[in-house]
Amino acid sequence: MKTKFIFVTGGVLSSLGKGLAAASLGALLQTRGMSVTIQKLDPYINVDPGTMNPFQHGEVFVTDDGAETDLDLGHYERYLDVPMSRKNNTTSGAIYNSVIVKERRGDYLGATVQVIPHITDEIKKIVLSLAEGENAPDVAIIEIGGTVGDIEGLPFLEAIRQLRSEFGRDNCLNIHLTLVPYLRSAGEHKTKPTQHSVKELLSIGIQPDIILCRCEQIIPQELRRKIALFCNVDQDAVFASVDVDNIYEVPLKFYEEGFDQKVAIMLRLPARNAHLEAWEKLVHDCAKPQGQVTIAVVGKYVDLKEAYKSLHEALHHGGVANRTAVKLRYVNSETVGDANAASLLKGCAGVLVPGGFGYRGVEGKIAAIRYAREKRVPFFGICLGMQCAVIEFARHVAGIEDANSEEFNPLSAHKVIYLMTEWFDFRTKNLEKRDAASNKGGTMRLGAYPCKILPGTKANGAYKKTLVEERHRHRYEFNNGFKEILAQKGMLFSGLAPDDSLVEIMELADHPWFLGCQFHPEFKSRPMAAHPLFREFIRAAKECAG
Ligand code: GLN
Repeated sequence: MKTKFIFVTGGVLSSLGKGLAAASLGALLQTRGMSVTIQKLDPYINVDPGTMNPFQHGEVFVTDDGAETDLDLGHYERYLDVPMSRKNNTTSGAIYNSVIVKERRGDYLGATVQVIPHITDEIKKIVLSLAEGENAPDVAIIEIGGTVGDIEGLPFLEAIRQLRSEFGRDNCLNIHLTLVPYLRSAGEHKTKPTQHSVKELLSIGIQPDIILCRCEQIIPQELRRKIALFCNVDQDAVFASVDVDNIYEVPLKFYEEGFDQKVAIMLRLPARNAHLEAWEKLVHDCAKPQGQVTIAVVGKYVDLKEAYKSLHEALHHGGVANRTAVKLRYVNSETVGDANAASLLKGCAGVLVPGGFGYRGVEGKIAAIRYAREKRVPFFGICLGMQCAVIEFARHVAGIEDANSEEFNPLSAHKVIYLMTEWFDFRTKNLEKRDAASNKGGTMRLGAYPCKILPGTKANGAYKKTLVEERHRHRYEFNNGFKEILAQKGMLFSGLAPDDSLVEIMELADHPWFLGCQFHPEFKSRPMAAHPLFREFIRAAKECAG
């Protein structure tokens, strides 16, 4: 087997940045000429995060092949610039599901089906599937979700323990990310939580090879020696993961620590130099912008930026591409109306309405869009944002007063956004084959679809292409029955499904920049290559503000 595995576990508490650490290490190994993939194993029982509330779980990241996955996959794609797929994320729910299907089918030939070996074997199979085929990567990083000590994480830890004992230390490396808090009153860093979480790992048979310490400030050498001694790792295998202002600095910080070097030595990877120029340029460009714009994000989840993770990143990428700092003002759409839109959006050089589900806050989004359209402020609508822009235009420009989406008012006589039954039936039939028809997630249009771009439009000016592929996650579509009347009033349908059956992008020609798309471009934006629509949106905002 060519692929070497790096298992990343987390201790002490959640939110230490395991996903970012895994992604940053992966990026560093890439700069040493390795091919890398990352997989996230989530211990929760949901089959995927598609049905989970973004308040609790943050964004659902969608892959090209239509998997609804953990938001860490967004970090993986942004840092590695390698597309992820459903292979890159699994959950306890999905694993139990497949074991139970096999059990019902009689595959286990009368055996008692147990966590060990049946569940753990299934986990190992999924991990090892990354090493299959001609294009298997040199390195696969496996991030175990949750914290060591969680009951539900045990089968995953047992599986990685077995993999390490089967494939050996040269092929499998255990990295444990922990917290080393700085106690201001005592004036010192504390190592006890780390010792405890490593003890917990040892009790299940996992000896970490490398300890990565999340800390506010760089930790002194003698403290590293103490951690190494108590945790039984090499003296030079304790690294700091220091808090940074800009997440794209993490790979450079890790490199300064010699983290990737140690990983390469321990896994006996070919000795090659890291090439960090692109990361250095990115960090430099982020640190030295030549201006600033404020963008209003008018959505439902103002208190939880995790819910708009990729969007947040894509807007900043758009800023980097324009050498402009992007300040985001999250505006709660439930508080916006025609009367206060101007005061709430004052000083914003652009307005963005992101994706979302359900009626709550929709009228506020429509009011914000009306303001952007009438005041000629650059506007970008994504998925639900595009649907709201269509409703707004139908109501206030085309005079269709009760224009609405079937999602919000199924009884409206003018459903400019509707459930396309042909599409719905097609999806449902397809998904029945995958046993998912009866659940909520099963009825959505998910994953990458082609979109042709009309020449001479803003979309075409951004993409500089006439055929693109973008990722979707929605049920409702633009209703083609309203195409003609809205086009007469000035709406331009600049992106369509190749057979013309679906509207994918709409824009307004007589506006500085007003564009809505039915897909989620934020998933494909990269720090070093901003998505063209985000790049152009920020450019327009900068121009209009300037
Ligand atoms: N709720 C809308 C739909 O299902 C939009 C979804 C979204 O914004 N992702 O079509």
